[in-house]
Amino acid sequence: MSSEAPAGAACLTHRETPARWACRRCGAFFCVACERRTRPDALPMCPACWELRSRNVVDQTSKPSTAIFTASLVLGIISLLPLPVVMFVSLVVGLMALVRAKNQFEAQRWKPIVGLVLTVLSLLGWFLLLVLAA
Ligand SMILES: [Zn+2]
Ligand SMILES: [Zn+2]
Repeated sequence: MSSEAPAGAACLTHRETPARWACRRCGAFFCVACERRTRPDALPMCPACWELRSRNVVDQTSKPSTAIFTASLVLGIISLLPLPVVMFVSLVVGLMALVRAKNQFEAQRWKPIVGLVLTVLSLLGWFLLLVLAA
C-alpha cells in the first residue's frame, strides 16, 4: 500500500513541492496535486503507475479484432473479379485468418474458408481460361 513519504522528500514531478506519498507500486514520491485514486477513499498512486493501470484496463476490455475474418471473406468475393493482385492478397489474408481462427476464433472459421475457396475457384477459372485460350 502507498505510505506517507519521509520528511524532506520532494515530488518526482514537482521538484519544489514536498512529497506527500510514496507510491505503493514503484516507490516514487509524489505530492497532493499528483495523487491518482481509483476511489475517493483509496490510497493514491503516482501519475506514472496510474497511466500504466488505465492502459491495462483498456487493453483488457477491448476485444481482439476480428476484422481480418470479414476482410478474408470480402476479398474472396472480390477475387472473383479478374484482378490478380486481389487474388494474391486474398490468398495471403485468407491463410492468415485461417491460422488465427485455429488458435482462438473457431466461430469465425467459415469466413476465411469461404474466402479461400472462392479465391481458389477464381484462380482455377482463370487457369482454365488461359489453357483454353492457348
Ligand atoms: Zn508509481
Ligand atoms: Zn507532484
